[in-house]
Amino acid sequence: MSNLNNQIALVTGAGRGIGQAIASKLAGAGADIAAVDLKVEFCAETCEKVRALGRRAWAYGADVSKAAAVDETVEKVLADCGRVDILVNNAGITKDTLLMRMSEADWDAVLSINLKGTFLFTKALTRSFVKQRSGRIINIASVIGLVGNAGQCNYAASKAGVIGLTKSVARELASRGITCNAIAPGFIETSMTAVLGDDVRQKLLAQIPLGRLGSPDDVANAALFLASDQAAYITGQVLTVDGGMVM
Ligand code: NAP
Repeated sequence: MSNLNNQIALVTGAGRGIGQAIASKLAGAGADIAAVDLKVEFCAETCEKVRALGRRAWAYGADVSKAAAVDETVEKVLADCGRVDILVNNAGITKDTLLMRMSEADWDAVLSINLKGTFLFTKALTRSFVKQRSGRIINIASVIGLVGNAGQCNYAASKAGVIGLTKSVARELASRGITCNAIAPGFIETSMTAVLGDDVRQKLLAQIPLGRLGSPDDVANAALFLASDQAAYITGQVLTVDGGMVM
């Protein structure tokens, strides 16, 4: 059993989906949770779940793509919680369309939230990780960042960027006892994939050797492992959680 007792985990995009599952999973292993979402009220359900598990929860509203909001949030979290041991950069969006139709705004929004948001939170917490000579950074990428996808140029570029960022941060901070890894989920049942039509869903299922879409809990289990002592010697890696779709 993983033991995260007395550790503090900051999870972005914690209000629902994979972020909520990760917050609950880490809390189940003993961590207290600083939940961040676009609006503070979006964190209410997650905080309730964390408290029901007997752990402390704090809620923050911040747009991860805005440097001032991120810095202010990290300052508040450190004041409220005393420290952060685990950072999970999970907030993300899609704005899918074919390249020829993709607007500059669609490109900028996805890159700003998925990639720049990960950079901003990582940068804002690095000083305190270095000072405490420990820290676990877990970035939620995507298999699309590994293999690309028609209609997702912006998303694929953002997630490939997250993987490059992960490896660079891992190299830069390893000597300070800080690890940085990415999880690349495949197709996971959340509101992000609920919009897919039945035909697309069937085509996807045909490509998944394990024969089902993933659950947020499947991704949360990988996050728990990377946050745990069992993963102390793992850094700069991309852990694919996709039912075998990309191998
Ligand atoms: P989701 O259900 O849409 O949840 C995303 C969360 O991020 C929401 O709570 C959302 O808040 C929050 N968020 C969006 N923009 C934000 C911003 N600017 N600042 C702060 N929070 C923001 O999506 P999900 O499926 O759980 O995805 C979580 C992560 O997994 C994403 O990085 C996604 O790219 C990645 N992923 C998902 C899948 C999949 O199949 N679902 C596959 C691979 C990777 P709101 O409630 O305000 O929208």
